[in-house]
Amino acid sequence: MPRDAAPAEALLKDIFGFDAFRPGQGEIVEAVAAGENVLAIMPTGGGKSLCFQLPALLRPGVTVVISPLIALMRDQVRGLREAGVAAGALTSGNTQEETDAVWDMLRAGDCKLLYLAPERLANGGTQRMLHQAGVSLIAVDEAHCVSQWGHDFRPDYLRIGELRRALDVPLAAFTATADLDTRAEMVTRLFDGAAPRTFLRGFDRPNIHLAFQPKDSPRKQVMAFADARRGQSGIVYCGTRAKTEGIARALREDGHSACHYHGGMEAQDRRAVEERFANEDGLIVVATVAFGMGVDKPDIRWVAHADLPKSIEAYYQEIGRAGRDGAPAETLTLYGPEDIRLRRSQIDEGLAPPERRAADHGRLNALLGLAEALSCRRQSLLAYFDEAAPPCGNCDLCDSPPELFDGTEAVRKALSAALRTGESFGAGHLIDILLGRETDKTRQRGHESLPTFGVGKDLSRGQWQAVFRQMMGRDLMRPDPERHGALVMTERARPILRGEESIELRRDVLARASERRPAVR
Ligand code: ADP
Ligand code: ZN
Repeated sequence: MPRDAAPAEALLKDIFGFDAFRPGQGEIVEAVAAGENVLAIMPTGGGKSLCFQLPALLRPGVTVVISPLIALMRDQVRGLREAGVAAGALTSGNTQEETDAVWDMLRAGDCKLLYLAPERLANGGTQRMLHQAGVSLIAVDEAHCVSQWGHDFRPDYLRIGELRRALDVPLAAFTATADLDTRAEMVTRLFDGAAPRTFLRGFDRPNIHLAFQPKDSPRKQVMAFADARRGQSGIVYCGTRAKTEGIARALREDGHSACHYHGGMEAQDRRAVEERFANEDGLIVVATVAFGMGVDKPDIRWVAHADLPKSIEAYYQEIGRAGRDGAPAETLTLYGPEDIRLRRSQIDEGLAPPERRAADHGRLNALLGLAEALSCRRQSLLAYFDEAAPPCGNCDLCDSPPELFDGTEAVRKALSAALRTGESFGAGHLIDILLGRETDKTRQRGHESLPTFGVGKDLSRGQWQAVFRQMMGRDLMRPDPERHGALVMTERARPILRGEESIELRRDVLARASERRPAVR
C-alpha cells in the first residue's frame, strides 16, 4: 500500500482515472485527508465527490458519507465498486439483501466508504454500528440541508452534529450554496460553532458569456436572442407560468422547436419535456424555476431570463445550467422596475422572519448591483463569492465598456421630487413632476407649485425611467409594498442628497430609452 511520492496524485490517476485536480480540489483533499474539519463550498459540477472519496482512501477505517440524494448515492457506490473500492449504502432504497451485505462488510472491517441516508441517523442501531465500525471521517454532502431557512431543509441533518460529537472524528461538509447566513448556520450546527477550515473555490465559469439588458419589450428581446442562436438548445426562464406558455408559442410560430414547463403541469407532462430536452438537439424550454434541479444536459448553449431572478444565487444557478461541457455558452438577463417591485414584494409578503427578509433583500440587491454594474460583470459576480478576478473579456461590459456620466444632479432631483411629495408616489408620477407635465393628479395634489415641478426637462421620460431604474438597482430608492409601490428613499441615498457623495450613471442605457430628446449633459 505505501506509495512514496504524492499518494493523493497516484490514487487520483489509478482509481479515479483523472490526470490532474480541478481548481481547489487538491487543497481540499489534502486538508480532509489530514483530518482537519473542513467546509468546502464549490459550484455544482465542480467535483465535490472526489474531495471526500479520495481522502477516504487515504484515511484508516471507514468514511461515512451523508447525502440526501438516494439515486446519487447509489450511482457513487456503483462507480466506486467498479473502480475496486469497497463501498456500500444504507438507504430506504435498499433491498434486505443489500442491507445485510453492507452490514457484513462493516463487521468484517473491509468497508472504506459507507453512504448513509440522513433518516438513518434517527436509528439507535445505526449509531451503535457506527461506533463499532471504526469510523475515521464524516463527509456531509449538500450540507446546506442543515439550514432551517433554506428550501432544502432536512430535519435529520440536525443529528449530524451529535454524531460528530459521539464519534469524535473530523467532519468535512460540502455544498454549492455560498450565502453567508447559510454558511454561518452550517458552522453552528455541524461544527458546534468552531470555525472549520473553509474553502470557497471555483465559482468562475469562464465559458459562459454574461449579459444584461433593460427590459423594453421582453418578448421581442428574447425572440431576437433565440433567433441569433437558431438550432441550439436553450432555456428561457420566466417569472410566471402564463408567460412560459405565451413565449413558447411565439417561438414555435417563429419556427423554433420550443415547449413550456412549469410546476402546474402534470408530472408526466413535465417528465416528457425533460426527456425531450435531454434527447433532442436544438429544443428550447420556456420554463419557470421549476425546471432545473434534474437538468444535467451538458450542451445547453444558452439561457435567457425574460424576468429578473430572485437573487444573485438563483441567477448564478440558473445561468450555470448552460455550457456544462465547457464550450462557449451565452446568457441574457432582462430586468426592469416591474421586476424589482415584484421581487421586493415577494420578499416582504413572504412568511420569513424579519432578519431573513433583510438577508433576502440583500441578495436581491447584490443581483441588482450586478444588473447595474459599471464594469466587468464577472468581477462583480465572483466578488459576491469572495473570489477576486481580473476583467474577464467575456461579458457585455467587457465587450463594450459603458460610457458613464455624473448623475448626481439627476439623482438629487429625483430624490427631491419623491421627498417633497411625501414619498407617496411611483416613478410615473414623479417623472411627470420632473418633466413639468400637468395631469389630473398633479393638479389635484397641487404638485404644480412644487419647486421641483419641471426641473427635469433636460431629460426625456425614457431617460428618467432609466435614472429611476438605476437608482432602484443601486438601492437608493425602494418601492414600498404597503403603498402600491410608492418610492421611498433609502439610507444609502442620504449622502448623495446632502451633496456629500456623487454618483455615476450609465449613459448608454439612457440613450437606449425610447424617446428622442436632447442628450444628457
Ligand atoms: P459535484 O461537485 O456537482 O458533486 P461531481 O463530484 O459529480 O460534482 O463531479 C462532476 C464531474 O466532474 C464528474 O463527472 C466527475 O467525474 C468530474 N471530475 C471530478 N473531478 C475531476 C478531475 N479532477 N478531472 C476531471 N474530471 C473530474
Ligand atoms: Zn467581463
